Amino acid sequence: MPSENERSEYEALGNTTSTGPAESNGVLAPRFQQMFPVLSQAEIDRVRRFGEVRRFAAGEFLFQAGETVPGMYVILSGRIAIVPRDGLGQAIPVSAFAQLIGAPVEEMMEVVPGEVIAEIGQLSGRPDLSALDARAVGNVEAIVVLPEALRALLIAEAELGERILRALILRRVALIELGFGGPVVVGALKSPDVTRLSHFFERNAIPFRVVDPDEDRDASALLARVATNPGELPIVVLPNGTVLRNPTKHDLARTLGLIAASFRGEPYDVVIVGAGPAGLATAVYGASEGLAVLVLEALAFGGQAGASARIENYLGFPTGVSGQALMARAFTQAQKFGAEFSLSTEVTRLDCISERSGPDPVHILELADGRRVRARTIVIATGARYRRPEIPNLAQFEGRGVSYWASPVEARLCRSEDVVLLGGGNSAGQAAVFLASHARHVRVLVRGTGLSSTMSRYLIERIASCPNIQVIAETEVVELLGTDQGLQGVRWRNRRTGTEGQHAITHLFVFTGADPVAAWLTGSGIPIDEKGFIRTGADVRSTQRSLLPLETGVEGVFAVGDVRCGSVKRVGAAIGEGAAVVAQLHTFLARRDRATPSAEASRSAARLG
Ligand SMILES: Cc1cc2nc3c(=O)[nH]c(=O)nc-3n(C[C@H](O)[C@H](O)[C@H](O)COP(=O)(O)OP(=O)(O)OC[C@H]3O[C@@H](n4cnc5c(N)ncnc54)[C@H](O)[C@@H]3O)c2cc1C
Repeated sequence: MPSENERSEYEALGNTTSTGPAESNGVLAPRFQQMFPVLSQAEIDRVRRFGEVRRFAAGEFLFQAGETVPGMYVILSGRIAIVPRDGLGQAIPVSAFAQLIGAPVEEMMEVVPGEVIAEIGQLSGRPDLSALDARAVGNVEAIVVLPEALRALLIAEAELGERILRALILRRVALIELGFGGPVVVGALKSPDVTRLSHFFERNAIPFRVVDPDEDRDASALLARVATNPGELPIVVLPNGTVLRNPTKHDLARTLGLIAASFRGEPYDVVIVGAGPAGLATAVYGASEGLAVLVLEALAFGGQAGASARIENYLGFPTGVSGQALMARAFTQAQKFGAEFSLSTEVTRLDCISERSGPDPVHILELADGRRVRARTIVIATGARYRRPEIPNLAQFEGRGVSYWASPVEARLCRSEDVVLLGGGNSAGQAAVFLASHARHVRVLVRGTGLSSTMSRYLIERIASCPNIQVIAETEVVELLGTDQGLQGVRWRNRRTGTEGQHAITHLFVFTGADPVAAWLTGSGIPIDEKGFIRTGADVRSTQRSLLPLETGVEGVFAVGDVRCGSVKRVGAAIGEGAAVVAQLHTFLARRDRATPSAEASRSAARLG
């Protein structure tokens, strides 16, 4: 069972959305020692072999807010003054910051020998999001551990690594909880673009905060200076002062370093397409077993599971866990083992065995940005995407009242309002229970006569015990009403009696199932069944070869998780397949190496030298 500390880590990552720096709540105080550990001399000595000692003269900056910090610092001698900055670049008095996180002021002012300065982004060398300046007070000596060496340290030094990794996770959680550091979105709280950007940050576990210019004079003055045209709103101010005007998610991902700037020249052992639970599990097991792994993900890590408010049937979490929290930990874990990631990176085409590196066949993936990636094996983990029911003008209200997930962002938008939810499956049940603690009233519309044949027993009971959830059976939505500003009403009909009614509703949640995401494989020769799921192993009919259970009809291309024909559509099953496919990759690569020993020899030579 997770410890109290572990539980609070999970909860924090999954269930908070910040719209501004939190009031001082002191909730972080009990975690203070874990967030800011002071290493013993013996531990410092163990860190030494992973880094190099650097010296800083009095007044010199180790780093400044918004810069990419070179790596983790462990202070050997001297003192560092830390100046936190708000998202708009203003220095925050240390006393106010200490109060914010519920820590003793004197402990926040300066960093002393043995302390670790790092943020979790440094695992992958991404820009630092903590919005701090760190300046040497006198002469300072520190060990700097670069990202690759930091990952090696976390693996080689189990106990020390756990202490450091825990501190880094808790620091990121604290930033998210407090709405401190990271980008600031300046725009109207309920605008669809603010919701869109909030989603992006939330799904990527990036701390952010939203400032409404109507309520903040500095923000409104900033807007008057930098965004005079309404089309430029909202703006996003990054910790280094860069202003992005109504950016796309792709612009943001590129600026924040979520999209890989380059890929390695020689083929990866495995490229995984999709970073849901199946893809992340493949990355963790593959990278931890020494394979060169790249994960390409069109949106954010976590997949459908990342949209799940509370998973209660995942083994080992008796009190449940938010999908986002579970997936964030898997994402960190995969990076710790050295898996490379490129998020907001859609794969548009798979060109199977289109090249040979010596006798070794190589697959090529084409990306939406025109780049190409080469791989010895491919694992397709592209899962499923929500289905859009046939409701006229549904698309008009997407992001303007119609949502396909229920996250803390939506919970905030529909606080104390009436909401309607479509669907009778487990994801609908979870969302209904989650929304019930925020909305005034939740109506669940189902086409069938009830929930018993489509929803797990525990969720049906949970729904029955929520007084503000009403299940309306044999009912379908027939019309949505509203303006460009958003949804204002929903008309629904009883399928048996034909009775229709119109209701003033501004939030409709749609959970009507999902379809496999495999259309991008058209022309690749990957066998797909009549519903679009990928066939693997014994399900592949058109091959003479004997296939490994998760192998598609194309040599070296595997499929796992919800996109696979016959998969169980559960987080646990997706993760299990991720683990299983790595064993099959090893089998496949070993067979290949036996068949083409010269290719293995040239790879070994490349590795050695
Ligand atoms: C709201 C909700 C609640 C749920 N609750 C539970 C629960 O309580 N318990 C449970 O066991 N299961 C639950 N599930 C089901 C579970 O989440 C899925 O079975 C699981 O996520 C499937 O994992 P996957 O990795 O196969 O695919 P997905 O989670 O669908 O991930 C696929 C990933 O691939 C990416 N992708 C797709 N196409 C491309 C492309 N061309 N290029 C790059 N990337 C691409 C997607 O963006 C996505 O991130 C829930 C699902 C939902 C939607």
